[in-house]
Amino acid sequence: MENEGPRYLKDRKGYFPKDQRQRTRKRSREMEASVSSDLKKQRNRPGKMAYFDEVLKYGGMRFEELREFHKKGGKIVGTLCVMVPLELVNAAGARSVRMCSGYYEPVHPANELLGDAGLCPMVKSTLGRKMVSSDPLIDLIDLVAGPATCDGKMKLAEILEDWVPVVMMNIPRVKVGETSSDLWVKEIVHLKDRLEELTGHPVRKKALKEELSQWNEANQYWSEIQKLRRSERPPISGRDAMLVVQASQFDDIRRWNRKVKELIEELQRMRTKGIFAGEEGAARILLAGSPMIYPNFKIPSIIEGSGGTIVTDELCSGYRLMSDPVLVDGLSKKEIYQAIAERYFFPCSCPCFSPNDERVRRLKEVIKAFGIEGVVFHTLRGCHLNNLEATKIELALREISVPMVRIESEYDEGDIEQVRTRIEAFVEMIKARREYHRNPILEDVQ
Ligand code: SF4
Ligand code: SF4
Repeated sequence: MENEGPRYLKDRKGYFPKDQRQRTRKRSREMEASVSSDLKKQRNRPGKMAYFDEVLKYGGMRFEELREFHKKGGKIVGTLCVMVPLELVNAAGARSVRMCSGYYEPVHPANELLGDAGLCPMVKSTLGRKMVSSDPLIDLIDLVAGPATCDGKMKLAEILEDWVPVVMMNIPRVKVGETSSDLWVKEIVHLKDRLEELTGHPVRKKALKEELSQWNEANQYWSEIQKLRRSERPPISGRDAMLVVQASQFDDIRRWNRKVKELIEELQRMRTKGIFAGEEGAARILLAGSPMIYPNFKIPSIIEGSGGTIVTDELCSGYRLMSDPVLVDGLSKKEIYQAIAERYFFPCSCPCFSPNDERVRRLKEVIKAFGIEGVVFHTLRGCHLNNLEATKIELALREISVPMVRIESEYDEGDIEQVRTRIEAFVEMIKARREYHRNPILEDVQ
């Protein structure tokens, strides 16, 4: 059903003064430049990272490409969650960009519109970006694909419809039973229909298989990087790994694959020469919880600046973006849609699902495989689902004697010192624990 008119912002014209737009743009650009400059100062940073900096740069090279594409009549689809299959968007001839925002300044216009609605800052920032057109990408988006996951995301999609057409995807939040799977397959096919309508380009089996093979290749490269991160001293920092995988959500996936291959070769050379990221003896940390979207790298920067290395994460803005391929050889077109639906649904351990035992199971597996010494569980203020699951995860980690610290943060810099103090104490505790377990007196104790 078509949206009958603005629901939340009846008087769009003149609601936001021009200077607010300019201020938001200026501060967003400054924030991105400052985070990028800190990343570039990291010790032993691979030269090949420069490409990924450029893809995510505010108004950078990728924006120019997308603007050209749009100018020539190409369509751009904004995605609100990792459960939207980008292969499908590409096979319909459109380009995709992840809309979730890591910029701090756009939170303010959303607060002005909604008051204290208790939403997480990522949702507010994404909305604020659109409200004041705070960056060059946002106004190029022709259609938004928004799975109705948590309350914040669902209402965000509804509000965005005041500006831009939205395909709301009805995601079954209870994973058990066949009805869940059937509903999600229908939603994926519905998305395909809406994409075809948008681009006037039917999704052909051959094109879809080609896109799937590109994304499967990307999955393989990502698992190569993960393998390198597993080693005693990883050659890449956690922040850089997150930057690389997040760039895939904006970039041309064929080029991303080429550039990641080059990066992997450089990382292998670095390892052979004994060049590593981070300091020797750094605490091996796993970062969990709410998504952390560039340039909101506040928590990862604090961890890696306090004697820790993020060896891996379980974020939908990190590791989870590319952990499962879609295998379609020999399948009919109908079965391919089924396979895509399953890939984006069953392995997803977003806290919006219940039961979500998969999350704890995977977390324990990853902790073992990566030699994790401690978990930083970060929640964005207002992310009730992650806040709830933190308790369950902390209990599960106690069973395997892995310490966890819970951190809550906002989209501003006011809490940096407080968070730093807690993380420094956590890292110290991990290092002290390591020494304690190395104590020779304890070696013979059963
Ligand atoms: S936290 Fe869940 S709803 Fe939000 S983007 Fe990640 S997977 Fe999607
Ligand atoms: S961070 Fe939490 S509240 Fe925000 S969109 Fe994701 S699940 Fe929803």
